[in-house]
Amino acid sequence: GKRVELFTERRDELGELAKSIAELSNELEYLKTARNEFLGSISHELRTPLTYMKGYADIINRQDLPSDEIKEYTAIIREETEHLTKLIKNLFELAKMDHNKFSIVRKQIQFRGLIESIAHRINPVFAEKGITFSYQCPDDIFVNIDPDRFEQVLINVLDNALKYSSEGGSVYLDVHKSGKNTEITVSDQGDGIPEKDIPFLFDRLYRVEKSRSRNSGGTGLGLAISKEIVESHGGTIQLSSKPGKGTTVFIKLPLE
Ligand code: ADP
Repeated sequence: GKRVELFTERRDELGELAKSIAELSNELEYLKTARNEFLGSISHELRTPLTYMKGYADIINRQDLPSDEIKEYTAIIREETEHLTKLIKNLFELAKMDHNKFSIVRKQIQFRGLIESIAHRINPVFAEKGITFSYQCPDDIFVNIDPDRFEQVLINVLDNALKYSSEGGSVYLDVHKSGKNTEITVSDQGDGIPEKDIPFLFDRLYRVEKSRSRNSGGTGLGLAISKEIVESHGGTIQLSSKPGKGTTVFIKLPLE
């Protein structure tokens, strides 16, 4: 009697253990595949600008070109260098985040002050593209956040709104308190994003339409970095969008 019971118990435990091992091994396989895919994307992303740079350098080298063409090609080489620099900087930033070598230095700030300084910086860029930027933020929202990091998030999101909007469009930033949170929304009337892409937008190096994003200087890392920063403040970031209608990004930040 007792022995059979013990045996059944052990057998069940072993069964459970085997199941856990199988699950872990599946998880490990999944992580390996994800890592390989990520490494593949990185090398592709790094190689693309280098290919352009080499190509244009070769053209300039080989032929006797008029000076305006040389100017045009060197400008492209320069742009590609900038893109590569940005890409490497962002990859490095994410790597630091992964290894917890990234510190959040919190300060008590008035949110409106942060928004005003961002608006001051981005207004000329929006004006240049013929896009109206406006915002609304009450005076009495005080938050304990890392202002530099948070500014980085808002600039990323606003920069996307700008990049994917066309002339005549408008971008609106709204900040308000809701219960124990500060809610920040950024909405645009730009290109929007197909529904099937939305679940992957916060993944690293994911871009909806590679060429569209690339032409506007995107690296596909902005939202991934923003998510890390918002979450390390205990907040959440989400996005909703309608193709052809526009996009809204929601950020929720706990007030304490
Ligand atoms: P990127 O640097 O390429 O803009 P992000 O991580 O910031 O990368 O965004 C990921 C992708 O999400 C972008 O490539 C773009 O296709 C899409 N996206 C982000 N924000 C918007 C927006 N406001 N309107 C349309 N598409 C957007």
